[in-house]
Amino acid sequence: MTSWQGTPVAVNPDDTPIGDAYLTHEAVRAVLERQDNRCAGCSAVLDAGSTYFDLRLPVICGGPHTLGNLAALCPSCHRNHMRRIRKQFADHRNK
Ligand SMILES: [Zn+2]
Repeated sequence: MTSWQGTPVAVNPDDTPIGDAYLTHEAVRAVLERQDNRCAGCSAVLDAGSTYFDLRLPVICGGPHTLGNLAALCPSCHRNHMRRIRKQFADHRNK
């Protein structure tokens, strides 16, 4: 039996947790839909074979593992993003 009591209700779809190891089709579709199938960095139209999904604020820097923190990027923005994250992470550890 299902109890209504104590059942957490997701109020904001952006707070939907995403998997640790891989993205579900639903998460991928939701992000692409939100971004109108365009890169979050440069607005280039994304093609399915070369789309990268990154956390805008990485978990190691305190970012939530949720849909709202996820961004779809083209390969070139993904590279820039990763470079920035690596630098941020280095700064983070030096504190
Ligand atoms: Zn881009």
